Amino acid sequence: RSAGNVSGSFLFYSDNMNQSIAGRLYLESAMRKALENQEFYLVYQPKVDLASGKIIGVEALLRWQHPEKGFISPVEFIPVAEETGLILQIDEWVLETACAQAKAWQDSGIAPFRIAVNVSAREFTNNLPVRVKEALQHHQISPQWLELEITEGMLMHSSESVIAIMEQITAQDVVLALDDFGTGYSSLSYLKRFPIETLKIDRSFIQSIPSDPNDCAIASTIILMAKQLHHKVIAEGVETREQLDFLIKAGCDEVQGYLYSKPVSPEQIISLLDKNFHTEI
Ligand code: C2E
Ligand code: MG
Ligand code: MG
Ligand code: MG
Repeated sequence: RSAGNVSGSFLFYSDNMNQSIAGRLYLESAMRKALENQEFYLVYQPKVDLASGKIIGVEALLRWQHPEKGFISPVEFIPVAEETGLILQIDEWVLETACAQAKAWQDSGIAPFRIAVNVSAREFTNNLPVRVKEALQHHQISPQWLELEITEGMLMHSSESVIAIMEQITAQDVVLALDDFGTGYSSLSYLKRFPIETLKIDRSFIQSIPSDPNDCAIASTIILMAKQLHHKVIAEGVETREQLDFLIKAGCDEVQGYLYSKPVSPEQIISLLDKNFHTEI
């Protein structure tokens, strides 16, 4: 696994260090301290509606500023947190923090838009419907503020209990999105069985359009299939005007990516809300 091109960040792992027990132990204890010392914070990336050119929601993304090591990417620490189980506390902190932000935005009088929170497989099966209910009640926010992004991995065993968890969430008017769509191994049959509102086309299929005909075919087919099954579809990782033009032609509903905005602070989100992204790109 590659830690990505996070220049300037301290890389705990390279491919051959992946098994390093010391590195993992270090990271685990550093993450515990990070929770205590409030080294984590959230940034928010706009999701833009292609029909209106307006922000329709945001995705909350976790950031970690370590006092000595500097910025550490979630691509490095989330997998370790998942292995050690610490992801439960981290995901709960993220849900709480995102709901507190929603409450602040709600109180400021702006119209609700969804804040999408990423949930790991462990958190999904850790009484998530009850946690969602408690978070909404605790912060007194309307469910229109919340969306949860889950990944295909959670749906691999498309069991009745997974469907039940999802239905207990959507019954509270919190919507579900399927993240990194196309990278998992699960059968397509879950798409019609599960109460998922939105499919998020993984960035790996977006990266090489429009030059790669295979990726163009995959992206168009996902969009077509999503429409036929009455799901909304969003493309993640859109970086270029050419990718955007292709996605508009293919009938994609929403896009998210550096072309429009990197993940930013809550204050910056407010200033982007009035913007029409069509006319300003
Ligand atoms: P994800 O949920 O698929 O998030 C999308 C990732 O793509 C984010 O990386 C985002 O910053 C990045 N991205 C967005 N637009 C572009 C673009 O145009 N170009 C490029 N190159 N990248 C773009 P990030 O923030 O590093 O997060 C990576 C992954 O870490 C996320 O993938 C998600 O799986 C996980 N993650 C992040 N925050 C959380 C969290 O709060 N809880 C959990 N459980 N996982 C999280
Ligand atoms: Mg996501
Ligand atoms: Mg994704
Ligand atoms: Mg992804």
